[in-house]
Amino acid sequence: MKHLESRLTEKNIKPTAMRLVVLDSLIRQSSAQSLTDMELKMERLDRVTLYRTIRTFEENGLVHRIEDGSGITKFALCASGCDIEGHHDLHLHFYCTECRETHCLPKTIIPEIKLPKGYQSLETQLIVKGVCRSCGS
Ligand SMILES: [Zn+2]
Ligand SMILES: [Zn+2]
Repeated sequence: MKHLESRLTEKNIKPTAMRLVVLDSLIRQSSAQSLTDMELKMERLDRVTLYRTIRTFEENGLVHRIEDGSGITKFALCASGCDIEGHHDLHLHFYCTECRETHCLPKTIIPEIKLPKGYQSLETQLIVKGVCRSCGS
């Protein structure tokens, strides 16, 4: 549990039992998780608490949200560079149409998008849809 605790404290998140459980569950997943996915994996957790926990994680740069076009927001753990100031891991996400899982591709950075004058960007999401490594082989 020690390494889990330090992953929270290094993002200035107080390591409560609840947060440790949620973090532990997220670390075990190889794909991005929706709140419903997480709820199913952590039975004794109510949705409101889970939602609050994820929001704290997001605000402190521990997880990032992914809109993969499925209409369901998913969350994945961030790289260590993210903090309360912002998320610095603007990477591509891959949605597999076979297993319907969304994966972070942290090595594929989204290039800076130039917007026309007068347009202000709040966030950038880049989703590639296709067949993932496990489904394609
Ligand atoms: Zn797949
Ligand atoms: Zn990601």
